[in-house]
Amino acid sequence: MNERLPTSQKLYDRAVKAIPGGVNSPVRAFRSVGGTPIFMSRGEGYRITDVDGNEFIDFCCSWGPLIHGHRHPDIMKAIERQMHRALTFGTPCEAEVELAEFVIERLQARIPTAERIRFVSSGTEAVMSALRLARGFTGRSKVIKFEGCYHGHVDSMLVKAGSGLVTSGVPDSAGVPASFTEHTIVLPLDDLDAARKAVAEHGKDLAAIILEPIPANNGLLLQRPEFLQGLRRLCDESGALLIFDEVISGFRVAAGGAAEYYKIAPDLLTYGKIIGGGMPVGAFAGRADVFAQIAPDGPVYQAGTLSGNPVAMSAGLAQLRLLTEPVYKNLAGLGELLKSDFNAAGFRWKLASIGSIFWLYESAQGAKDGDEAPRRADQIRRESMETYARLHRHCLRNGIYMAPSGYEVGFLSAPMSEVQIYRLLEIFKDFFSKEERNPPQ
Ligand SMILES: *Cc1c(COP(=O)(O)O)cnc(C)c1O
Repeated sequence: MNERLPTSQKLYDRAVKAIPGGVNSPVRAFRSVGGTPIFMSRGEGYRITDVDGNEFIDFCCSWGPLIHGHRHPDIMKAIERQMHRALTFGTPCEAEVELAEFVIERLQARIPTAERIRFVSSGTEAVMSALRLARGFTGRSKVIKFEGCYHGHVDSMLVKAGSGLVTSGVPDSAGVPASFTEHTIVLPLDDLDAARKAVAEHGKDLAAIILEPIPANNGLLLQRPEFLQGLRRLCDESGALLIFDEVISGFRVAAGGAAEYYKIAPDLLTYGKIIGGGMPVGAFAGRADVFAQIAPDGPVYQAGTLSGNPVAMSAGLAQLRLLTEPVYKNLAGLGELLKSDFNAAGFRWKLASIGSIFWLYESAQGAKDGDEAPRRADQIRRESMETYARLHRHCLRNGIYMAPSGYEVGFLSAPMSEVQIYRLLEIFKDFFSKEERNPPQ
């Protein structure tokens, strides 16, 4: 591959001299798949082109935000319209009201607790703010999180967090004092008994239970609905708030995200990725009585110089307006086709999916068809990532761009059709038919 990437290689050589690891977010560095990162220069629909002119079908979608692919004309027009008025004021603007109304109206029909929303500039900020708000509202300190759930790089959440941390093999981050995580209780997913015990022990000081209802940062660890319902009950009983981190799943699996999909109303929700239409936007939403505690109405401080940025709000609004029911239906159909066709091929590796999110995993030795996909982080074999690294190189050689880590999920985008799905299947099957016939020693 590298002989096809002279310009990427040159840019990378320059980048590492100014930017640590040459990247502004660690997983982009290709450390777990080998080689050096590919520098992209253009995107159009489902296609991206790198600085050397190589074309790829984009199954990474900027890690999730690009549900309509690249440069959808409606989104570009909305950005342009706003761009000619102003980039930022630091005052309230119409675009943020429009996006807030649009999101609340959409969510409310499906999630009755989604009564208020505030915009920030990233998913990390959304989580950080939601946790502070939950603690301020309840007057309690402890938070339960789950092993393998990633909630951005908030200090208190950098414990068994998946995403870039699992990829680089760093279980925790340096620079986070133990006292910053002493109020974080980490539990395994898919274990309601463990949650019940922890709530019994800490219930009176428990501010919140936070999780990705569709955990998608440490593989795709789809949960049993009963587990999520059980957490809702535990929160009701203990007075802790249930926070769904829907930074990936929000507007991805349905207009109402995982909350709609599983028909569970959390007290707070966090958003990012899709909600910005490709611009840096995050948001947290939830119960009006909880939001009454936030500044300037209440004592919980939260702020942002570029929060509610008019250009970003316009992009987000244009993207969400395009997300109609037929779009979700079509994406889910493509996801289903990918899953059923790949899994019918009889490989040891299987494909898990929900809506337009997919993930390849190595099933257990001797697993039978119909056995379920992993539901906990510790069910993923670390060695399987070497196979993913080879698959990743095979994909790049064949014009397929996927996230450079086997712990990350893939995304489909609305401009795709069965043509791109069959192409992906062809590349996957070609790889696994050789791989599983001659497994490397
Ligand atoms: C991506 C992600 C975050 C962090 O969002 P950033 O915009 O990268 O800060 C938080 N939670 C989940 C579930 C995510 O997938």
